[in-house]
Amino acid sequence: MEALTPSLTVIPRPEHPISRANISPNAVSVLYRLHHAGHRACLVGGGVRDLLLGREPKDFDIVTDARPEQIHHLFRNCRLIGRRFRLAHVRFGQEIIEVATFRASSDGDNEDDGVERAKDGRILSDNVYGSIEEDAWRRDFTINALYYDIANFTVLDYVGGIADLKAGLIRLIGDPVQRYHEDPVRMLRAVRFAAKLGLRLDPATEAPLHHLGHLLAQIPPARLSDEVLKLFLGGSALQTFELLRHYRLFGWLFPATERCLNHQQQHYPKTLLIHALADIDRRLTEGKPVNPAFLSAALMWEPLREQQRRLQEQGLDEHEALQEAIDLVIQAQISHVALPRRCNTLREIWEMQPRLAQITGKRPLRLLTHPRFRAAYDFLVLRTETDEQAASLADWWTRFLQLDDAGRVAMTQPVKGKGKKSKPRRRRKPRPVASGDSAPSPVSDI
Ligand code: ATP
Ligand code: MG
Repeated sequence: MEALTPSLTVIPRPEHPISRANISPNAVSVLYRLHHAGHRACLVGGGVRDLLLGREPKDFDIVTDARPEQIHHLFRNCRLIGRRFRLAHVRFGQEIIEVATFRASSDGDNEDDGVERAKDGRILSDNVYGSIEEDAWRRDFTINALYYDIANFTVLDYVGGIADLKAGLIRLIGDPVQRYHEDPVRMLRAVRFAAKLGLRLDPATEAPLHHLGHLLAQIPPARLSDEVLKLFLGGSALQTFELLRHYRLFGWLFPATERCLNHQQQHYPKTLLIHALADIDRRLTEGKPVNPAFLSAALMWEPLREQQRRLQEQGLDEHEALQEAIDLVIQAQISHVALPRRCNTLREIWEMQPRLAQITGKRPLRLLTHPRFRAAYDFLVLRTETDEQAASLADWWTRFLQLDDAGRVAMTQPVKGKGKKSKPRRRRKPRPVASGDSAPSPVSDI
């Protein structure tokens, strides 16, 4: 690994593009409140990185030499959170500004550094405060360890982050294997930043990813759940998925899905998932919301189908097998990555799939009023990519949604004279839903 710059590089205001005008006014006010109270206060992390890259930051993280209790004292709208990392959350309506205290860098060789570690080297709590320089060295990637100092608007670089940013490189600070052992979530973060920012992983940062996936098994499912949402709802879900599979990390998050992907026939499960992820990315690009339940429904659809098939082979009817399979699949998954409590929306999206096949009489009109109808319809449209029967059904529903009430009633009547129930027309793809009418759009924000 190339030696990192050990000394401080200071980039004066005229030589970098970061302006207070691009920082959230709430973050600027927190920086100034700390500064005027005599503390050091800097913007750090993604806020600095993204502004230097000319991107809009997702959030603004602040770091200071004020202790959490001192921060708490300065802001009325402030809450202290976290055990592993004690942090202050300063709330302004919907916006939360995270304020951390400079922490000492954790040197894995020093058992007396005050950092609480598990036997495997994992850091359990990291609340030892230190200098800004020490704080820089304990951050994950060099490009995440740049500081914008509100005192004089300079950017401070202790770890060679500016050079890496210019070279388009994601590089772990320190020894990559040790840093991944300390916190295996850094592997997911490496993938996330590579996909989202379109940067390359430095070879020494990249190499261990291929064989350290098993470390993720030690991470609490609730923390992995947060990371999974960031991985797949950050606008680059498809690219992230491909990278996670490439580094054999995906299977440690979704083992049942990984097994299906490995045994896939005719690229079936991969196609559905890839279309779902592409839909999610498209929707986020358009500034529309995405329900995490839709993501989960797509991620685990194939394990669900396989489980249902197995149960049907054991003699359960289709409905019982589906109910039982939903329970089994969710139960198995939550020991790896937590899902929202009770997963009601996820269950409903799945449970409504067979109900969407009942298209005569009053049932379709009743289904329309179901609070999860849109999500279930979106999922049906997604299934059309890989399932011919779903395609004709989705087509039926798409036409049904375009009609007024009278048209809908007529469409659900049995065909006269033939004594048969109406059947969906066989078409491979549903016609696109006209925008601006009451019909749902793909991946709606239920
Ligand atoms: P974004 O907010 O765009 O997802 P970010 O880099 O700001 O990216 P955060 O999770 O907000 O990510 O974390 C803020 C900063 O805290 C990071 O930039 C990094 O310096 C540090 N950090 C976060 N997680 C870790 C970690 N697991 N190990 C070391 N440092 C971390
Ligand atoms: Mg951030």
